Amino acid sequence: MKALDELTLDNRFARLGDDFSTEVLPDPIEAPRLVVASEAALALLDLPLSEAASPLFIDVFSGHKLWADAQPRAMVYSGHQFGHYNPRLGDGRGLLLGEAYNAAGEHWDLHLKGAGQTPYSRMGDGRAVLRSSIREFLASEALHALGIPSSRAACVIASDTPVWREKQERAATLLRLARSHIRFGHFEYFYYTKQPEQQKTLAEHVLALHFPHCLEQPEPYLAMFREIVERNAELIAYWQAYGFCHGVMNTDNMSILGITFDFGPFAFLDDFDARFICNHSDHEGRYAFSHQVPIAHWNLSALAQALTPFISVDALRETLGLFLPLYETHYLDLMRRRLGFTQADSGDKVLIERLLSLMQNSAVDYTLFFRNLGEQPPEQAVARLRDDFVDLQGFDAWAADYLARSQGEDNHDRRERMHRVNPLYILRNYLAQKAIDAAEDGDYSEVQRLHNVLTRPFEAQPGMQAYAERPPEWGKHLEISCSS
Ligand code: AMP
Ligand code: MG
Repeated sequence: MKALDELTLDNRFARLGDDFSTEVLPDPIEAPRLVVASEAALALLDLPLSEAASPLFIDVFSGHKLWADAQPRAMVYSGHQFGHYNPRLGDGRGLLLGEAYNAAGEHWDLHLKGAGQTPYSRMGDGRAVLRSSIREFLASEALHALGIPSSRAACVIASDTPVWREKQERAATLLRLARSHIRFGHFEYFYYTKQPEQQKTLAEHVLALHFPHCLEQPEPYLAMFREIVERNAELIAYWQAYGFCHGVMNTDNMSILGITFDFGPFAFLDDFDARFICNHSDHEGRYAFSHQVPIAHWNLSALAQALTPFISVDALRETLGLFLPLYETHYLDLMRRRLGFTQADSGDKVLIERLLSLMQNSAVDYTLFFRNLGEQPPEQAVARLRDDFVDLQGFDAWAADYLARSQGEDNHDRRERMHRVNPLYILRNYLAQKAIDAAEDGDYSEVQRLHNVLTRPFEAQPGMQAYAERPPEWGKHLEISCSS
């Protein structure tokens, strides 16, 4: 383990130069104090949790101090927002402080969100409010604990700096970690601004640092694109299987590494609802839960368009064609495990679709259904779950098929096997909201407790039953503001 001033920085992206990012110093927030830190995320930097309480840590991640060799930079990118191309986005309120590398030889971007204005801030104040910083912190670490690829969050720091959203709030910072902060929108920026040299530099940088094994392939760029398609297919399969709704799947929020990235008004489903829209500004439901699959495909084709200088259109089209079948393979695999099956059966897809449609009609809690299904042997479990369904005839028909299908399985370790993939605790919106309300009043203990519970989502934890309940009625209809 190290202390913060012993971190080794190697700023590879900064060295690409001013066409790619702009040097900007963080603008400090007033009276900074630590809200929460993630032991697991800090460990990626070889830092112990205790380091987060040190005055230096608070100073650095609230913008008051920097390492002597730090080169904080705001990245430039563009992207398609709600289907429309926006030619210039970029880090408007976050800075890449540097790339730290750990004892295992991994580089991790240190990105400070809420660090003040940059040349890409447009009309924005460069700040992030406490509420959205806490939500991003909890979600990134909760997704990681579920085994879902995500950017990570090391800490949230609160302040007295006032910021205006729908009402006056206070600014916070979030330290985000990722192996790369390069988005689909980075490639789009250089493509649409017609800077082929810079685009090539970017592509070579990404290949060398993040897809080095593709360099051994006959067509390295194509191999890289194929892997981006594969990773995103797997990511979206996880989202759909675990009920995660991202909310703002613009191409500037899509990572080339296929990790969950740039959290806004996201939500985990409470009741199953394929049509669920978590972003209240998304009036047409472009990013509704069930649209995430075609939208990811659409986003990948926007990336493909930007890669036409390097890869033939035919090869890009063929590779894009892999997305849906790959997605479906991953998704069915995850859902089979959630249902307790160890082997594939040709009827599984229909069995899953029938279940989801029954859940949709009866507003069944998506997380608890699977947890309870694994809690008891199949016959008892379905008998108990039956009460949650309105269409009893439909459920009985499904249950009969499920029981028949389960008979071919080895059921002696079924409960343990299912509990390993079916979380008991999920980041429900109302749980996050309770923790945020307390934090806005200066009490950070609930954020910390919730974070702790969510780091072990599959394990029943003594005294934590309240975190595993269905939401109260008020908690199901929270309007999560998309201003952040
Ligand atoms: P997001 O919705 O967070 O993905 O942001 C979309 C774009 O708006 C990015 O370029 C952000 O950097 C920028 N942005 C969002 N909020 C702010 C803010 N408060 N100040 C400056 N830029 C912002
Ligand atoms: Mg964004």
